[in-house]
Amino acid sequence: MFDVQKIRADFPILSQKVNGKPLVYFDNGATSQKPQVVIDAISKYYSEINANIHRGVHKLSQLATDAYENSRNTIQNHINAKHNHEIIFCSGTTFGINLVASGFGSLLKAGDEVMVSALEHHSNIVPWQFLCERTGAKLVVIPMNQKGELIMAEYDKLLSDKTKIVAVNHISNALGTVNPIEYIIKKAHEVGAAVLIDGAQATPHLKPDVQALDCDFYVFSGHKICAPTGVGILYGKEEWLRKLPPYQGGGEMIAEVTFEKTTYADLPHKFEAGTPNISGGIVLGTALDYMNSIGFENIASYEQELLDYGTKRLLEIEGLTIYGTSENKASVISFNIEGIHPYDIGTIIDKLGIAVRTGHHCAQPIMNFFNIPGTIRASFAFYNTKEEIDIFVEAVKKAHMMLS
Ligand code: PMP
Repeated sequence: MFDVQKIRADFPILSQKVNGKPLVYFDNGATSQKPQVVIDAISKYYSEINANIHRGVHKLSQLATDAYENSRNTIQNHINAKHNHEIIFCSGTTFGINLVASGFGSLLKAGDEVMVSALEHHSNIVPWQFLCERTGAKLVVIPMNQKGELIMAEYDKLLSDKTKIVAVNHISNALGTVNPIEYIIKKAHEVGAAVLIDGAQATPHLKPDVQALDCDFYVFSGHKICAPTGVGILYGKEEWLRKLPPYQGGGEMIAEVTFEKTTYADLPHKFEAGTPNISGGIVLGTALDYMNSIGFENIASYEQELLDYGTKRLLEIEGLTIYGTSENKASVISFNIEGIHPYDIGTIIDKLGIAVRTGHHCAQPIMNFFNIPGTIRASFAFYNTKEEIDIFVEAVKKAHMMLS
């Protein structure tokens, strides 16, 4: 049974008042809140087993290493990776994409093509632009339609044997569109291209199966799935991780170092130079255990209810336009009200204790497509409620009246 009040009680921050009003937190697309089990696990790590990993023979170092490696196994099981050495701990989605984009520098030549989509976050655009600048490869963009959906007929036409890698998000942070990644992956493989999926916005809502998807890379951030900031995962198929050169040099990633020549450690350590975010890595496993105890099917169906309800209620407001109207959408509503700047609404409703994001959401090409400066984005998580949506809609109506 999905009991949202019981779930809310797990999140201490949700009972806070902000600006004198009960917090309504609808900025989950930016980062999620943390349940008490995660907060406790961080404290437990530092109170009981803090030590550097993979180094010491001493007891605490072994305990910390075991906890870290157990978490790697939890993450492997969660996304159904074939091997645990295909799970690379990193600082987040941005780092993971940069690692792959940088590594492809050694595999591309001038004239090759790198494909992204019109729906990407800047962190899945800029690293590929760096790569193209370095190699002379060309950046190709899969276009979208007015509903904020990628146009697969155009994608088919853009693919060719020049395409070396296709990098797309699973779910758009700015509009909430769920992209047809199964199709994208299958078609890319037909021309021999690799596929990287940016799962930053998908992992809060669903459990990806990387073997069923057959993607070559899947990246996500811990902080959007109830874990702390500064930890994330790059999944890569073993064959690709072996092909890519190391990204950073330093301790942990070597087999042997001399001044003449250095050899590299095996996977996953080849990509994990330096002391990592140990507590973050351990607690990412705790966070996934917590979310799995609620169940991703329950999460998805409850969030769909919130999305349908929020969409219906917001559309009561005259002059309100929702951007991103695909039937295949996660619980994100991006909108504007005619004649009003999104920032002004965000500022007024903040005074009423409501947290939303306003602006371009690190996706300026999407805003340019719709010819708008930005949107107001309400993004719901499994701990939000319909009552909060009512408070939010009334607040937006009030702001609308004040500003028109
Ligand atoms: N891609 C998408 C789709 C995102 O939503 C985000 C975070 N807003 C990122 C990438 C970057 O994630 P991070 O800042 O955690 O590296």
